[in-house]
Amino acid sequence: MPQIYCAIDTPDLARAVQLSQMVSSSGCGIKLGLEFFSAHGIKGVETIQSACPGIPIFLDLKFHDIPNTVAGAMRAIARLGVTYVNVHASGGREMMIAAKEALLKESEKIGLFPPKLIAVTVLTSLDDDNLKSVGQNGPVEHQAMRLALLAYECGLSGVVCSAHEIAMLRHRLGQDFVLMVPGIRPAGSSTGDQKRVMTPPEAMKAGASHLVIGRPITEADNPAEAARVILKSLEITSF
Ligand code: C5P
Repeated sequence: MPQIYCAIDTPDLARAVQLSQMVSSSGCGIKLGLEFFSAHGIKGVETIQSACPGIPIFLDLKFHDIPNTVAGAMRAIARLGVTYVNVHASGGREMMIAAKEALLKESEKIGLFPPKLIAVTVLTSLDDDNLKSVGQNGPVEHQAMRLALLAYECGLSGVVCSAHEIAMLRHRLGQDFVLMVPGIRPAGSSTGDQKRVMTPPEAMKAGASHLVIGRPITEADNPAEAARVILKSLEITSF
C-alpha cells in the first residue's frame, strides 16, 4: 500500500496520465477527485488505469445521498477496482452501511478485491460558525470525532482527516483505522491555500496511515523526483 496518494487535480486528461505515470514510478498511488471525475468520468479513470497498470487509486468523490442512491453509485465504482472510495459520514448510518454492503456484494460478484470505504467527517473549509449555520453542533473537532466514531461503528475502514486531528483519532479508534491525511507540506515548500499544515514525517509520526499530497509533487519541476524525496524522508524517520 502506498504511503502517499498524489492528488491529481487537473481536468487535463493527458497531463493527468503523465503525472500518474511519473508518481507511480516513484511508488505513490493517486487521488482523483471531483474536478477530474466531472470532466472525464469512469472512462477517465480507466484511461489512467490502462496507462499505469495496477496503480492504487483513491477515488475522492465524497458521495452524500440517500442509501439506495449511494449504494447504486458504489456498485458502479466497485467495477473499477480502485483501492479507496469515500462518502460523507454526515450522510448517516444507513447510508454508510448500504454503501459498504454494495461495495462488498458487487466486488464479490465480479471477483474483484473490494475498494476500502472511508468517510469525510467535517470539511476543513468549515469552521465552528459554519457548522452552526447548517445546524450541526460544534466545535469542529467534536463533530469530527462524533462522525469518525459513527463511521467506525458502521464498519468503514477509516476517515479522511486533517493533520491536527490525527493524534486524537488514532488514540480513540485504534491502530487499524485508516487515517488519510491531506494538508501536508514538506519543510520549505509553499503552503498555498492550506492553512494548518504538517510535514510528511510529522504526520506519519502522529499516526497517519496515508498522506494526500498534491501541489508539492505535481507542481515540482520533476514530480517523480519530488515524490521520491518525500518517500525517502519517511524511510529515514522512525515511527
Ligand atoms: O495540493 P494539495 O497538497 O493542497 O492537495 C491536497 C488535496 O487534498 C486536494 O485534492 C484537496 O482537494 C484535498 N483535500 C484537502 N483538504 C481536505 C480534504 C481534501 O486539501 N480537508
